[in-house]
Amino acid sequence: MRKAIFLSLIAIFVSLNIFAQTPQELADAWDATHITDKEPSDVRHADLKVYIEKLRAQGGKIGEVGRSNAGREIYQMEFGSGPLKVFLWSQMHGDEPTATSALVDIFSYLATHKDVPWVKEFASKLTIRAVPMLNPDGAELYQRRNLQGIDINRDALNLATPEARLLKWLQNNWRPDIGFNLHNQQELTAVDHTGKQASISFLVVYGDAAKTETAGMLRNKRIVSAMTKAIEAFIPGHIARYGDDWTPTAFGDNFSAWGTPVILIETGALVGQKELYLAKINFIAIMTAFSSLATGSEATGSTLTYDTLPRNASGTLVNFIFRNVEVAPKGNKPVVPVDIAAVAARRRASFTTSIRLTRVGSVNGLRGLEEYDAAGFYVIQRFGKLLPGKLAELFFYKKDRVVDWQAEDIIEKFEPDAIFSAGSWTKGEGLVPKIQR
Ligand SMILES: [Zn+2]
Repeated sequence: MRKAIFLSLIAIFVSLNIFAQTPQELADAWDATHITDKEPSDVRHADLKVYIEKLRAQGGKIGEVGRSNAGREIYQMEFGSGPLKVFLWSQMHGDEPTATSALVDIFSYLATHKDVPWVKEFASKLTIRAVPMLNPDGAELYQRRNLQGIDINRDALNLATPEARLLKWLQNNWRPDIGFNLHNQQELTAVDHTGKQASISFLVVYGDAAKTETAGMLRNKRIVSAMTKAIEAFIPGHIARYGDDWTPTAFGDNFSAWGTPVILIETGALVGQKELYLAKINFIAIMTAFSSLATGSEATGSTLTYDTLPRNASGTLVNFIFRNVEVAPKGNKPVVPVDIAAVAARRRASFTTSIRLTRVGSVNGLRGLEEYDAAGFYVIQRFGKLLPGKLAELFFYKKDRVVDWQAEDIIEKFEPDAIFSAGSWTKGEGLVPKIQR
């Protein structure tokens, strides 16, 4: 009897797990198989071509579907032959690259694991098409807009750009059942008032200003709920809901209006983690979405997780805060300690960043991704005074040191104890104490 129960439990366990790959298994799958090796922001069109060649060599189905203004190839990848049509596109904004790498790794995994039961299930239930890097000219220049200086995501109705015309044609010609619009948001986007970065934000995109709740919208809310549950253990507290203002000229809104209800995924950042980590989180989330569509599990799911997602917030986070900063004494003037805040410009991962002061004085209402207590130091700003707008190039001197503050070339004559330059400690790391948040 006991044996029979044991065997039937095994049978249930096996039947539940044939198609249900856990989030951890998806994470392990990405770790073991991903073919992307560069930080997504460093991936140019030439690098994408290298990925595409690897994908082709793995048996992946991929073709050129159009060209950019500068004649760069725009590709579409395809997997499966099922009845439900799933369409994804990434990087219509050139400086929003993370999902391009995720898509490459997804199609690479699917192409090389055709015999895995859940991949077979995808292939028989879904046809998946994806355009990675819709805006290769913008990606080359690392800018939002295309080569004409037009925001493709405001060109869904005008169709003044070849990239927008292509995207519209791909939708119109194939009529997908669901769309995924893949972007990046600012690294300082926060989850509500938590002071945490919004590393992934979702939005179920309505197809009209009245926000009519169609069956497709409800399905998408259930799918976002499943995706959220799948990734929350990896980035706890870092998932939010994107603002849902209706944008009549944007593609997501119009895809939904044209009969392809869209899920928007906005990847942010996570301090201390590489960009590729969030490509992996995209991999887990998107594979989970495919799974819930292929198995039909979304139909019995709930929209609750989506409905209760905290909202995106902006204006509450900065990259760095230095507290209790005293400038070096000049003459007999008393020096009042101030707090200073600084933010980084968006850039490719391999590029040196510039960090600019945004507040000097009070930083009330702000939280720094990194915060330091400078109370034991005098601080010199490399380029003149500590003022908003200046670069944060900071030299720290222990207060008990004997320094002739009137000397010219202080920095040469009296070497600083610690130097903060271009967003990192180039000397004396750890000397100025970090404030644990
Ligand atoms: Zn965008």
